[in-house]
Amino acid sequence: MELPVTDSPTQAPSDVAPAIANLETIVSLSKRRGFVFPSSEIYGGINAVWDYGPLGVELKNNVKRAWWRAMVQEREDIVGLDAGILMHPKVWVTSGHVGSFSDPLVECGTCHRRYRLDELPGAENLTASDLTDPTVIERYKLICPNDGGPLSPPRRFNLMFETHIGPVQDDSSIVYFRPETAQGSYVNFKNVQQSSRKKIPFGIAQVGKSFRNEISPGNFVFRMREFEQMEMQYFVRPDEAAAIFEEWLPRRWDWYVRYGVTPERLRFREHAPDELAHYAKKAIDVEYRFPFGWKELEGIHNRGDFDLSRHAEASGENLEYFDPATEEHFIPYIVETAGGADRAAFTFLIDSYREEEVRGEKRVVLGLNADLAPYKVAVLPLLKKRPEIVELCHKLRADLAKDMLAVYDDTAAIGKLYRRQDEIGTPWCVTVDVDSLEDGAVTVRDRDSMTQERVPLEGVKQLIVDRLAAARGG
Ligand code: ATP
Repeated sequence: MELPVTDSPTQAPSDVAPAIANLETIVSLSKRRGFVFPSSEIYGGINAVWDYGPLGVELKNNVKRAWWRAMVQEREDIVGLDAGILMHPKVWVTSGHVGSFSDPLVECGTCHRRYRLDELPGAENLTASDLTDPTVIERYKLICPNDGGPLSPPRRFNLMFETHIGPVQDDSSIVYFRPETAQGSYVNFKNVQQSSRKKIPFGIAQVGKSFRNEISPGNFVFRMREFEQMEMQYFVRPDEAAAIFEEWLPRRWDWYVRYGVTPERLRFREHAPDELAHYAKKAIDVEYRFPFGWKELEGIHNRGDFDLSRHAEASGENLEYFDPATEEHFIPYIVETAGGADRAAFTFLIDSYREEEVRGEKRVVLGLNADLAPYKVAVLPLLKKRPEIVELCHKLRADLAKDMLAVYDDTAAIGKLYRRQDEIGTPWCVTVDVDSLEDGAVTVRDRDSMTQERVPLEGVKQLIVDRLAAARGG
């Protein structure tokens, strides 16, 4: 596949408009319809933590399932893992996180607000070396975005949350909330390889919570302090790492497109040499055109042998792999794909949002891929006064619910019920009417085309199951 970027992935392709002009559109829909709520809202909220409501939890679960399907279920060479959030503190010393998992923090001398240096207005073109330069504030004439006050020179702020393990709270009991899932895969490399008998190249996939005490979180669920990652570590022969890295780029791109992201709003961006993390040989981000600019969706990294060499050295455990084909012992290189479940769900929400005019009225639609949609089907009575119709609806819903999330609603007239389902992305509505009692058929209405077709009751479930399979590309 040809990569849809300029020859140099660091150069921005011509800009495209975001799917929505204003983030508020999605924030208010999320609150109103039960996708995402501010955490602890009745106490005034807690910054950068969000709660997923009844529809949001379904959407995010579906995103995680879709990722697992593509990364584990459909592949013979990748297996899953669910490591603990708390790990031995030496893991984070060895990985470099205790020493250098930090962002450049500046503080206003008058209002004392703190900012991440590279997110200040006017700091868009700072290089990685600028971020540690004490003269950077002066050179770029940066001021506090809140009150125009003077800013301090940058200092490093470590992003890991600490807590204590056990009943004694001293330095020896400090443990960290993991800031990434990857380290759990590295320290389990041998366990997984030996128990699953995988031969290199093979991967370990994890989905789970990570925590970062971000200096300037924001943009809704884009940057949170508690979030979920979907990460895969692929262990390879050192001489194959560069080529395998290139193979993962189109694969990860295709996953976003397969689940509905408009390709024009995606791009690759390669990290400049001075921007590369301490462990990385090469890094390319998949970026999405959010309403607040091009931002990282997922990072694809060639981490070399940094992780396993460091852990082998620090733990004293031999983490070499023996290749029976060539009879060589070596420390595998790692190609990582590191994405976020919240960021992906957020992207699918934004990119699927559309407003249309239908017969002079505004119709809001979440055109989510059916596999990601919270409800797959809504069962609606045309006449709720007729008990036989309502009874048939409940029977049908209960039958559908054995295989998918199906909902019943009779709290408005049919036109309004359709609009409500459109707004939350339900791909199909099934309407039961008076004729259904006679002919045993119902109307299946499609969210996107709004076309309606008459289907015998006993064929409804199979029709939807088949369409769901088609939506996920199966
Ligand atoms: P950024 O540059 O945005 O801080 P990063 O380069 O530190 O991100 P990684 O460490 O590569 O991010 O994490 C992998 C993925 O985890 C990111 O691409 C993103 O999808 C997700 N992620 C990272 N930090 C957060 C966060 N604070 N909130 C939500 N998702 C996050």
